[in-house]
Amino acid sequence: LPPLPSNSPIGLLRDNTFSCYSGATLFKQLPISQKTKDGLRQCNYHEMTDIQRATFPHALCGRDILGAAKTGSGKTLAFVIPVLEKLYRERWGPEDGVGCIIISPTRELAGQLFDVLKSVGKHHNFSAGLLIGGRKDVDVEKQSVGELNILVCTPGRLLQHMDETPNFDCSQLQVLVLDEADRILDVGFKKALNAILSQLPKRRQTFLFSATQTKSVQDLARLSLKDPEYLSVHEES
Ligand code: ADP
Ligand code: MG
Repeated sequence: LPPLPSNSPIGLLRDNTFSCYSGATLFKQLPISQKTKDGLRQCNYHEMTDIQRATFPHALCGRDILGAAKTGSGKTLAFVIPVLEKLYRERWGPEDGVGCIIISPTRELAGQLFDVLKSVGKHHNFSAGLLIGGRKDVDVEKQSVGELNILVCTPGRLLQHMDETPNFDCSQLQVLVLDEADRILDVGFKKALNAILSQLPKRRQTFLFSATQTKSVQDLARLSLKDPEYLSVHEES
């Protein structure tokens, strides 16, 4: 094949399939739903950051991702958009239950992530819940948690629901996200994470994002990643 001109909107993915948008720089050029595009535009997001550009061609065609990029590089949208698109394409609805779980190491980060999800995803019909310890009465949460489509949670609170909430069913899970994955894979969360993973279906899409690349082969096996795409973006200074 002749080399593509550098400004070509067509790119070659590693399995020799073509991506017709890997040269895209704007969200509106992506093959994503109008609902997501409207949410992005209203939040004033127009141009993709490097980690977002690197992630979408792979994430949108169903691959597992291990993404590394420094703090402030836009990793949240790099996974929030593929999550919304996955459930949208699956025609996920209120009666389908938990379709995505996003795990964050701290309550504060989980809260920020939830706000991004709510604002960018506001035109979609998915229900989403923030499950973090100490925030509100867990008994009230238990009544609604099984009906939510997207859960943003800390490991402890998620595990508490898995252990205590009747009819809490994650068997149809489509996507699992670990944000700040290096911190979640750290020893402090090991027991909780293993217990969570043992209750999730292995056939799913998995995204791991952090500031540093996760290299532990053991961790990757633990997460049942399927031939993941390693993406590492480091801006030149
Ligand atoms: P990270 O998780 O990599 O630390 P965040 O996802 O928290 O980064 O994003 C950092 C900041 O950059 C946030 O204020 C976010 O609103 C902003 N941001 C993310 N993506 C874009 C974008 N495509 N265009 C403009 N601002 C963006
Ligand atoms: Mg982040």
